[in-house]
Amino acid sequence: MKHKGSCHCGNVNIEVKGECQSVVECNCSHCSRKGYLLWFVPRADVSVTAEDGALSTYTFNKHEIKHHFCATCGCAPFGFGAHGGVEMAAINVRCLEGIDLAGIKRQQVDGRSS
Ligand SMILES: [Zn+2]
Repeated sequence: MKHKGSCHCGNVNIEVKGECQSVVECNCSHCSRKGYLLWFVPRADVSVTAEDGALSTYTFNKHEIKHHFCATCGCAPFGFGAHGGVEMAAINVRCLEGIDLAGIKRQQVDGRSS
């Protein structure tokens, strides 16, 4: 199935193929501040629609993951990176339509300690 998502102002829209079974809730300094609930999918299963300049990008630590966010409203629907040579996307399911945030299985990840 396809999930639609967007930032708050609507300048950034995404479509994700797949079935979201569980999400990662990480306690690192970045994830906890943004409140990310992340669903990891192959990069090829995500399509992004955004005008030039609509997206800003934040990186930190090893600068391997591109944390994209809307330059207007600040919402961060996704990030891109590679894991074991495979291009991946981390979808912030808080920005998807029709996701039952209370009912979805959360996998706690201790990113703060690693
Ligand atoms: Zn926006």
